[in-house]
Amino acid sequence: MSLTKKILIGMGLGIITGLLFNLAIPGFFDSASKYLLIPLGKIFINLIKMLVVPIVIVSLILGSAGISDPRKLGRIGGKTIAFFLVTTAIAIILALAVGMLFQPGAGDFQLEGAEYEEKEAPPVIETLLNIIPTNPFNAMVQESMLQIIAFSIFIGFGLARLGDKVQGIVRIVEQANEVLMYLVNVIMKFAPYGAFALIATAIGGQGLDAVIAMGKYMFVVLFVLLLHLIIVYGSALSFLGKMNPIKFLKGFSPAMVVAFSTSSSSATLPISMKSAQNNLGVSKTVSSFVQPLGATINMDGTAIMQGVATIFIAQVYGQNLSMSQLLTVILTATLASIGTAGVPGAGIIMLSMVLTSVNLPVEAIALVLGVDRLIDMCRTSINITGDAVCAVIISRSEDTVETGDSEIVNVGKHLS
Ligand code: ASP
Repeated sequence: MSLTKKILIGMGLGIITGLLFNLAIPGFFDSASKYLLIPLGKIFINLIKMLVVPIVIVSLILGSAGISDPRKLGRIGGKTIAFFLVTTAIAIILALAVGMLFQPGAGDFQLEGAEYEEKEAPPVIETLLNIIPTNPFNAMVQESMLQIIAFSIFIGFGLARLGDKVQGIVRIVEQANEVLMYLVNVIMKFAPYGAFALIATAIGGQGLDAVIAMGKYMFVVLFVLLLHLIIVYGSALSFLGKMNPIKFLKGFSPAMVVAFSTSSSSATLPISMKSAQNNLGVSKTVSSFVQPLGATINMDGTAIMQGVATIFIAQVYGQNLSMSQLLTVILTATLASIGTAGVPGAGIIMLSMVLTSVNLPVEAIALVLGVDRLIDMCRTSINITGDAVCAVIISRSEDTVETGDSEIVNVGKHLS
């Protein structure tokens, strides 16, 4: 049985267990989750997170060391950022349009007593300006992904320029990469159990009342996520990537199910890189550059949630957003999704930035908070899918398609 199938079975059992807990005697869920489900889920998350920083460093060093011409790196970077920005803007426009069409906020919503303790959203511009780390080790400790990416590219660039002189280091990094990818395989054997526990806790902890009350809002978000997947990614893959979207979904499904169960793009990174490289023929160079960057700054699913939530809240408060306000939402939600960390629940914190930009009350986040965990699972799958679609397109446009497990990029050969 394939791993994806096993994970899906784990998730299915998780949903059933979560629902049973939700309906069962209060108290039972608390102890079962405290002593069994939460630890099981935590072990899985920790195991994969353990590999994220080393994998990003090692594969990005190898990836950029494999590019002897710095202009190629610039070209890949330019195309990647352009793809990220355009698809994110389309995602928000879709969210706003469908939100206005279906009017999820046009009902009676209990506004009194809705409380949301505002958490400070990190300033996006500052994060982007601080991209060059003054202390790379600090960046690793803090898991500052953009800084880690910048540092690894510098090291890879140095290795590429120095060529034969530093063959030894390149060999070591290559071997480290082998070990880490092997460990991803080993850890993924635990994924069905981890997915079971994570989903059961997420569903079991979810108030069913909240889901019923927020049904229309949830439906709109999920519908736009699906539209984005089918229309935007489907056509990008077919026309730009020349890849059959079904083939893509088959190859990338292990990563999508892990993203769904962990709600974290960043934790899913080891699996999404491995799936893209082994099943979609994305070259290691492109995958190691595009996917860690995407897991940090490209969040179409999050942008969709932020777009729908803003329209929803505006409708609940009886406000019509003007054209210029809608443009502001497109701009700020793009920035907010860039600034969203790839961890559970980060997108809802950044939503405050979008609401403030159009003078909507931040406390209103309380309304959507109740169902956010469920939406987070779905939007995270879309977030990482966008990165992989971009990686496929760029890999093909750079003519660096490599196939299967047999692919071993001997960076040494590419050194100038
Ligand atoms: N959980 C999402 C992710 O990791 C971020 C979000 O909260 O929207 O991609």
